Formats: sequence, C-alpha cells, structure tokens
Amino acid sequence: MTLNNSWTLGTAVLVVSIMCVTQTGTAQDATKTVQDTKIAAALQQVSAQRIQADVEKLVSFGTRLTLSAQDPSSITAGRGIGAAREWLKSEFERYSKDCSGCLEVKTDSFIEQPVDRIPAATEITNVYAVLKGTDPGQVKRIVLVTGHYDSRNSDTLDVKGDAPGANDDASGTAVSLECARVLSKMKFPATIIFLTVAGEEQGLNGSRHFAKMAKEQGWELEAVLNNDIVGGDKSTGQDHSVIRVFSEGVPAAASEQDVKRIRGLGGESDSGSRQLARYIAEVGRTYDAGVKPMMVFRFDRYLRGGDHYSFNQQGFAAVRLTELREDFHHQHQNVRSENGIEYGDLPKFVDYDYVTHVARLNAATLASLASAPAPPLNVRILTKDLENDSTLTWDASAGAASYEVVWRATTSPEWEHTQSFANVTRATLKLSKDNVIFAVRAVDAAGHRSIAVVPLPER
Ligand SMILES: [Zn+2]
Repeated sequence: MTLNNSWTLGTAVLVVSIMCVTQTGTAQDATKTVQDTKIAAALQQVSAQRIQADVEKLVSFGTRLTLSAQDPSSITAGRGIGAAREWLKSEFERYSKDCSGCLEVKTDSFIEQPVDRIPAATEITNVYAVLKGTDPGQVKRIVLVTGHYDSRNSDTLDVKGDAPGANDDASGTAVSLECARVLSKMKFPATIIFLTVAGEEQGLNGSRHFAKMAKEQGWELEAVLNNDIVGGDKSTGQDHSVIRVFSEGVPAAASEQDVKRIRGLGGESDSGSRQLARYIAEVGRTYDAGVKPMMVFRFDRYLRGGDHYSFNQQGFAAVRLTELREDFHHQHQNVRSENGIEYGDLPKFVDYDYVTHVARLNAATLASLASAPAPPLNVRILTKDLENDSTLTWDASAGAASYEVVWRATTSPEWEHTQSFANVTRATLKLSKDNVIFAVRAVDAAGHRSIAVVPLPER
C-alpha cells in the first residue's frame, strides 16, 4: 500500500498536509506528521504544580553537591545529596505503586576514585526507573530522558554551603520525574528509562558511568534527551516560547574511517544525534507543548558540556535541551546580594510553566519514539552503477507497516520531502543522490514514525 495525502487514521489527526509535487509526482512535504490523540491527552497531565513541588523539594536538601553528606544521619536530617537520592528513589517508587508496579526502580552506584574535582574517593549514585516495553520484539529498544540532580555553588568543593540548584538542574530532574509519572500510565512497545544522575558538576562522572554500562551491556539505546538548565530563568531578555536543542555534527565516537566517509559524502550534519534533534523539531510541530524547539547545530554551548556528551562518547544519539537565555548570576553562585544584584540558583527565578512546556515536549518525544517501529537497520544506497536515479535498501523493522524515504537539499537543516512505500525493503527514486541527502524511516499502522536513518553507500 502506498500512502498518500488522503490517508486517514482512526485515532490520528492529520495536522499539516502541504502537498509538494516534485518530479516523483507523489512526494509530500516532510513536515506532515500525525498526532496520536492518546499522547496529546497525556501531555495535558503534565503538571506545573507537580514540577514546582519537585524543584522546591530538591532545593530543600540545602546542597546536592556530589561531595556532600550521604550518611544515614544526613539522610534523616534531610540535608545533602544522600537525602536527595533517597527522595528520588521514593518518588519513582510512588509512581510505580500508582501503576501496579509498572516501573522498575534502580540505582547505579559506584565509587569514583580521586580526580580533579573529587578530592577523596566518593560514592556516586544514579537513580532511574524503567518502563518496560510491551512488545517482546521491541522491548530491548530504549529511549531515555535524563537530568542531573547534583548541584554546586561558587566553589565546586564546598560540601557545606547552600547550593540550591533550582534551575541547574532541579528543573531537568523534575522533567525526568514528571515524564515518569505521566508516561507510566501508558503502555508502549519499546522501553523508556527515566534517569537522574549525579556527579555532573564534578565532571560528568555519573552519566559517564551509566553510558559506559549501557555500551558494555549492549543496550539498544536509540535516543537520550538531556535536560540541563530548563528552568526558563525569568530575567529580562528570556524568550519562554523557545527551547534550545544542541546536537553534535561529526560524532564524538566517529572512527578515522567514519570521519573520512563523512567528509567524502558531506555527512557533517547527519549524525544520529542530529537526526534525533530533527525528530524533536518535528514533534514540536506536531504537538502543542507550549514551547518550540530551536535546533543548534553544535554539540553544546561555547566551550561547555553536559551529560549528553557521555552518551555521545559511547556512540549513542544524545542531545541537550537548555533554555534560550541563561542568567549567569543564577548559576554556580553562592546565594548573596552584591551591588544590587541577586546571585544564586533560587526557585524564585524558575518559570514553572516553562519547565512544564519543556516536560511536555520531552514526554511527546519519548512517547512518539517508544510507540514507533525500530529505525531501519542496514540502510544502504546503491552506488555500483553510475545513474541519475537513487535506489535505497534496508532491513525490515520490528513493528513497521510501511516506510518513508525522506530527503532534503544538502544545504537544508531539515527533511523537506517524503515519499511513502508499502512494507518493502527497497525503493527507487527519480532523484540523484548527488544532489540531495536521503534517509529512511519506519512507520507503524497508526502513523508513528521512527528516527530517520541515513544510508551508507554500497558498492
Ligand atoms: Zn547543569
């Protein structure tokens, strides 16, 4: 069956349908996507009150510096990273209770030996909840959302002083929690992990350990959404309608041979992370999250980094979501007033509606990915013969009912055109591969799309 612009779905609504007739005659605008009404309804459950309560609770632990107290008495007293860790666990467990134990709540604990910002051996604990996929053929596929629950003030070694970390990164932690609370009420073919990591401020220690574990255990981790500084600081100049999505171009994990191929084919803007960013941009057009993704084609802000990098280093697609305009008086600062300026990362600077919108965008992305078929594997473009048509082949994806070949001009940031194909594993288009960039994505019967996969050349 070839889908065209007149197809309709029982539970899906055609959101945009701009026909764009190209030389193939049946190509459509690639921005046409379908909304899943169950996902749209779930987004309404994301609560600003819950997010505010989560951020304020995290701030109430005084400091969440990775080096701060985590002994039993500090946990009882409710001060330090140990108390925050125990509370996160109890929150995930509470959500799990509400869905008859649908979440597996886990910790990933290890001892980090002394390094620059860790003067003495320190136990670091990542806390996470797993919502297992319901399709045995897809349960191994994983999509993940994360935020870091550790915080710091002006001095990364100050174990005693307050470090409220409301925006950086109780906001991102709250996004992970709220996605878990809302999405645990639904079922998806693939698995979703809701992660909160520690050690970010000391050198990405928690995420590094977790990403290595995922790699070593051969996880089929398809997407990582790292939310760090998503509080929408209220200072002048902020734009609460936009969230930045940073993605790497040439992958951190690319081998020398990969880089050679990327250079040869003009693939500098086609990493897995970049495809994930495009996916988020499309989700942002499909669902009304209240905030629009602004893709930044750069792995992070100038000379700065975050937990997505740990995943990129292990070869996983991972992006960073961050508010548009950061206020540096409110990050990594002791709480104080100087010359009329208020310093410190306090809850009063966080815009909870904004965090709610960001959480909705995350939830829509996770739900869409976990509902979609697996991205096609072994996508190839045939290059044996010199010709002006382009033929692509791929392996069938679990859960796919059809496939789409998407393409764009080599100078375009996003997929511009799409052509649907029935449940086949080969397609020929009347377009020259020399002039455009192609990719293939799998589509299920309800219209959920996988991430697009660019082909490797096959001689
Ligand atoms: Zn941060």
